Amino acid sequence: MASSNILAEKDYQTKVLQARSLDNFDKNIICPNFTYVFYTELEINLNWNFHDPMEQWYLLFAEISLPICCAKKINENNHTPVQVFVYPPNRLIIYHNAKIKYRCLNCINEWTSARGRAIFQTEIPCTNKYNCLFVNLCTQECRLCRRNIQPSWYLCETTRVMKSVCRIIIEQFYSNRNFPLPIHQNSSSDERFIQRASQTNGRHHENLCQACREGYCYDSHRKYH
Ligand SMILES: [Zn+2]
Ligand SMILES: [Zn+2]
Repeated sequence: MASSNILAEKDYQTKVLQARSLDNFDKNIICPNFTYVFYTELEINLNWNFHDPMEQWYLLFAEISLPICCAKKINENNHTPVQVFVYPPNRLIIYHNAKIKYRCLNCINEWTSARGRAIFQTEIPCTNKYNCLFVNLCTQECRLCRRNIQPSWYLCETTRVMKSVCRIIIEQFYSNRNFPLPIHQNSSSDERFIQRASQTNGRHHENLCQACREGYCYDSHRKYH
């Protein structure tokens, strides 16, 4: 039993090493299974620090309602593409911007948006309770047929955002444990704030954007559309 655990641990570490060595160029694509990258980056940048399963983090894709007054706070602080709020007594909320592609299969319309939004929510870790990280990937409506379209994330943006979120979790909850912070390839500036370059020239359609309608879209950097 003990030896199979050691083998499983070795296998896990090998997989993490392989994922680490993946070139960023290979991540400049959209893959239908992009959600796997969210899980992988959580493993690489956060979970490998823990050996106790009760300390591990679990990622769940779900839309969890936000505390009342959340949108008002966001509007007061919308000058940065990453916003972190701690709501008493124990809730942590991270709003993260990303460049995202949307594809409407109904009318074969597709567009990119530099104001894609992911909302992460969790609670302060405590003993005997699993650490769940909920993420909601915001939708946009198709301009032509008004269907609500789920986002397709670029793999490089998924990696960047998850590194950033893991870093925030380490800084918020484990600052006394000397965990290594996720490394950013661009050392001259903080990669967390540099999203994939945008060639889109169209304006942002607030009426079609879930984040705009609900009051937590990233709005102040007008160069992003
Ligand atoms: Zn459509
Ligand atoms: Zn918006």
